Amino acid sequence: GHKIVTVGELLVEFISHTKGCALERIGEFSGPYPSGAPAIFLDQASRMGAETEMFGGVGDDGFGRLLLERLRADGVGTEGVSVLPDRSTGTAFVSYYDDGSRDFIFHLANTAADSLSFTAEMLPPGPLALHVSAASLGSAPLRRAILSAADAVKGSGGKITCDPNARPQLMQDDEARGALERILGQADCLMPSTSDLDHLYPGLDEAAAIDRLVHSGAEILAIKRGAKGATIIGDGAKYDLPGHDVDEVDPTGAGDCFCGTFVALLAQGVGLEEAGRQANAAGAIAVTRRGPMEGNSGPSQISAFLSSTPAVSD
Ligand code: ATP
Repeated sequence: GHKIVTVGELLVEFISHTKGCALERIGEFSGPYPSGAPAIFLDQASRMGAETEMFGGVGDDGFGRLLLERLRADGVGTEGVSVLPDRSTGTAFVSYYDDGSRDFIFHLANTAADSLSFTAEMLPPGPLALHVSAASLGSAPLRRAILSAADAVKGSGGKITCDPNARPQLMQDDEARGALERILGQADCLMPSTSDLDHLYPGLDEAAAIDRLVHSGAEILAIKRGAKGATIIGDGAKYDLPGHDVDEVDPTGAGDCFCGTFVALLAQGVGLEEAGRQANAAGAIAVTRRGPMEGNSGPSQISAFLSSTPAVSD
C-alpha cells in the first residue's frame, strides 16, 4: 500500500479542568497532551496498521521529547521531524463550554511548529499518500512546504487526501484560500465536516456543495456529521453511516481520528463502506476521551466498540 505522510504542525495542548471557564480565569490545566491535527491523524493511521512518516518541527525541550516519544511508541516514522535548537515546541491552551464550543490560545507562529526545514527531496521513496489538514495552510512556511510536497507526490503518481477544515479566518486569507483551492484540485479524497462545507461554499446547500467538491476532481468524499455519523461517497455509491450513541467528553481530534482511520484502511485495500464504518467508530471512540490524541484507537478497540455500541439513526 501507500506510505502515508503529513507535513504540518506538532504542538502540545493544555486543557482547562473546569468546563465553561474563560481562559483568563483558569486555575488548573491538565496536560501537556500531544496534539496538532496532522500528528493526530498520522498517529491514528499508524495505529490502524499503515506505514507513516511525519514532517514537522519540535523544540529541543520536554514538550518536543513528549511528542517524539508518543509518535514513535505508536509506530509513526519521525525521521522527518526536525529538532530545532533555537525554537520552542508549539503550544495551545483550550477551554470548553457546555454547548460544545471551545476557546483556544495558540503559540505556533515563530515556534518549532511552523519552522520546519522541509524540502520535497526529503520525502521517502515508493508510493506515497500525502494528507493535508487545511488549517496548516494558514502558516506561510507550512503552506510552502505542503504545496511543494503535494506537487512532488502528485508528480510521482501518489495520492493526496485532505481535511478541508476551513475555519472562516483561513478563508479570508487570500494566500491560504488559494493554497486550499490548489490542494482541493489535486486531492483524490476529501473529508469535510458539514461545517467545513458551509465555510467553503457559504449559501450553498449540502448537495450543491458536494457537487462542487466532486467537480474539483476528488474520487472519494467522506462527509463528517459529528454525533450524526458520516456519509461516504465514491465508486458510484453512497453510504450513510448513522452515529454511535456515546458520551462526548472532548470533541477535539475526532475528525482527525476519523480521517486517519479511513485513509489507513483505504491504503490497505479495505473497501469504502467498511473503511467508513470503522472510521465512524474511531471518531465516536475519540470523543469519549479527554485529550486530542488520547482517544486514538487500534483495530481491536474498534472491533470491540462496533460489537458493543450499535449505530443509531437519531
Ligand atoms: P474536529 O472537532 O476534530 O475538527 P470535525 O468537525 O472534523 O472534528 P466531526 O464531524 O465533529 O468532525 O467528527 C468526526 C467524526 O467523529 C464524525 O463523523 C463521527 O463519526 C464521529 N463523532 C464525532 N462526534 C461524535 C459524537 N458526539 N458521537 C458519536 N460520534 C461522533
